[in-house]
Amino acid sequence: QGPETAFEATRIEIQSVRHAYGDAEVLSGIDLVLTERRIGIVGANGSGKSTFARLLNGLLLPTSGKVVIDGLDTKKAGKAVRRKVGFVFQNPDNQIVFPTVEEDVAFGLKGLKLPRDVRASLVETVLERYGLSHVRQQSAHSLSGGQKQLLALAGVLILQPDCVVFDEPTTLLDLRNARMVSGVIDGLQQTAVVVTHDLALLDNFERVLVFDQGRVVADDEPCRALSDYVRRMQ
Ligand code: ADP
Repeated sequence: QGPETAFEATRIEIQSVRHAYGDAEVLSGIDLVLTERRIGIVGANGSGKSTFARLLNGLLLPTSGKVVIDGLDTKKAGKAVRRKVGFVFQNPDNQIVFPTVEEDVAFGLKGLKLPRDVRASLVETVLERYGLSHVRQQSAHSLSGGQKQLLALAGVLILQPDCVVFDEPTTLLDLRNARMVSGVIDGLQQTAVVVTHDLALLDNFERVLVFDQGRVVADDEPCRALSDYVRRMQ
């Protein structure tokens, strides 16, 4: 997909969604249609942001209601949804499993039965794009926080998902690494849904949802949504 390709946003439909862990209801009555290219999610700790994010690629299924991604219901087409929607965890250590950076990046391709040379060239392109070529033979655990986050991102983007969900991608990073990850998100060809406390990350976003106690209490362009959020936090 080149930069000249018309961007087609993923359509995310959330229909009467409720989610409970045991008896504890953490999301209630959520109805949304998201078709923007950049969507931010903010809210206090425990307001249900991560739970919401995990519903988007079928990692988690709603207790009731439906999540439909480009026409695919996460309850019925989980595998297709997981291929369509990539998920980058907050703590990249959760996503790092192999002895070298190169193997970690290539991991997701294993199930795809690609010819060896195609696989190698995809790995090469992605290592290059995220500035990881020079550390390819190192253990992923030896990388800096920012590099680990880029590695987690590379491992997801190599699969060319239509949409990428990020759960607090800059929380563990210093300012410089946070800017690097923010630049990568800005440059993505895909739809990005980003859960964050880093409000600067949301400057160029089209839509920001504010969560409070399991509900969406504001849904607006970033400036208005964030001022609503800041007011609520005072
Ligand atoms: P946020 O991302 O906004 O901090 P979460 O979605 O992580 O919110 O959590 C919402 C609520 O659900 C919190 O009270 C949290 O303790 C609870 N919770 C989250 N994950 C689980 C789980 N796997 N089992 C039980 N409770 C959970």
